Amino acid sequence: MKTIAWIGLGFMGNPMSKHMMNAGYTVRGVDIDPAACERAAQNGVQICSSVAEACQGVTAVFTMLPTGSEVKEVLAGPNGVFANIDPGTVVIDCSTIGIENARSLHGSARKAGRIFAEAPVSGGTEGAIAATLTFMVGCEDAHVDRVKALLSPLGAYVAHVGGPEAGQAAKVVNNLIMGVCVAVNCEATALAERLGLNLKAFFEIAIRSTADNWTFRVWNPGVGVVPSAPASKDYQAGFKTWLLAKDLTLAMDAGREVGTTIATAEAAHALLQQHMENGGADLDATSLVLSLKTPAVTGVAQKAIA
Ligand code: NAD
Repeated sequence: MKTIAWIGLGFMGNPMSKHMMNAGYTVRGVDIDPAACERAAQNGVQICSSVAEACQGVTAVFTMLPTGSEVKEVLAGPNGVFANIDPGTVVIDCSTIGIENARSLHGSARKAGRIFAEAPVSGGTEGAIAATLTFMVGCEDAHVDRVKALLSPLGAYVAHVGGPEAGQAAKVVNNLIMGVCVAVNCEATALAERLGLNLKAFFEIAIRSTADNWTFRVWNPGVGVVPSAPASKDYQAGFKTWLLAKDLTLAMDAGREVGTTIATAEAAHALLQQHMENGGADLDATSLVLSLKTPAVTGVAQKAIA
């Protein structure tokens, strides 16, 4: 039986590592959060106390961590993955880390003589649980077949976007659209409520109208509108507010690097920032609607757009 290591067993990593076990792999897991380790252990993941221990003799290592800082530490740090694997092991990072961090990691992998692919995902926790994620792979052509085979138990669509950084470029652009949609859906929901609209009735109109979008359908911000959405579960994540704010920052960084204006990302980011200051950082991103109901935050929105 082939063994893999999975580092980062949170909202996404937990169901994804479970699918790898269902596909016949033995999975060794690492996470700094004991509760995440406990949940994964209940699925059958063999919890290890260090990255070095998890990586011994494995076919592949997956990372699903919050940001580029953690991924760089876990992969390229002195006691990290690159220092502890065999040259034939494939390393796949599925986190959303942006273009600059991907560039840095491909450089570190090259220097260490390791096989590395970035493979950020889209589809949310729903897609992770259903194994219907979309993967955006950036890696050298020589590794594409092995990377695709390793990802096949997890997704419905695995795209090799191109060489190093291309996968993160696609993900950054995707999440620019998604993040702005989440913010505008929250704004629209707050406005609809103030106007006295029935949110369920409006949902039925919108999904048949020009307002329709994936986040509105699946992550609707109105309580009870979509029973499976975080809004109907006290806004428990899902996709945390601070992670969405991070993704919009990555889009803003990318825009600056190539000289493209992305003002809607800046406006959405300012709203999320204010919501985090109001205490919403670890709630689902659609909890932004709670802050948007207060006049103070409306002021922030006006300032961001001005
Ligand atoms: P999460 O916070 O639920 O999970 C991240 C896990 O990494 C946590 O369990 C945390 O304890 C662990 N961790 C942090 N630092 C670590 C370290 N140094 N070593 C080991 N473990 C460490 O986040 P998530 O929602 O699973 O998201 C993970 C990544 O996937 C992020 O980059 C996010 O942007 C991206 N993403 C999330 C979604 C979503 O809907 N949640 C969708 C697509 C992509």
